Amino acid sequence: MFNFFRSILSLLKGMRVTGHYLVRPSTVVTQQYPENRDTLKLSDRTRALLSFKYDENGYHKCTSCHICEEACPNASIHVIDRPKPAVAKNELDHFIWRLDSCTFCNLCVLVCPFQVLQMSAKFESAVYDQRLLIYNLTTYAGATGPVLMKQPDVESRKKLIEPRSVYDGPTSLEGFDLAGIKP
Ligand code: SF4
Ligand code: SF4
Repeated sequence: MFNFFRSILSLLKGMRVTGHYLVRPSTVVTQQYPENRDTLKLSDRTRALLSFKYDENGYHKCTSCHICEEACPNASIHVIDRPKPAVAKNELDHFIWRLDSCTFCNLCVLVCPFQVLQMSAKFESAVYDQRLLIYNLTTYAGATGPVLMKQPDVESRKKLIEPRSVYDGPTSLEGFDLAGIKP
């Protein structure tokens, strides 16, 4: 009998907590996704997507030095040099990043001598085709912003670079065998 009353007491205690949140929904601590997508705040340190930093002119500072590629523990980065650099000794052609194998260890971000890479909290990367998880991160093939800015005008700079898109070049969507890329 004692156990019966104890159980009833325990049940009432639980129902009191449930009733509290029922009439005061604003005090619920747990956040619900995706309903709270517009107000969802993630920590600045969240690592969900690797991307390039670009300056106000749309240029990056990647010198195609391959340091990040060598630091990556599971070959999730493939830096492709431009076959015929236009103005610098080394120029980036493609920067292939494999979201499908990246472990978000942040090593590539830390080792880059020019702070080209950054991790962002954009985590909505779900796709229906796994091949879409292999990106090209650079928007152009060519020299770094500081080198390009030595040119007298925009038109001169345009002649030194070629546009690149997210899925062009050696990505799986182009039928390229990534296993064949040698670091
Ligand atoms: S975060 Fe780590 S695993 Fe991902 S690409 Fe960078 S070094 Fe490689
Ligand atoms: S992102 Fe940085 S470390 Fe990687 S190739 Fe470019 S300059 Fe080198």
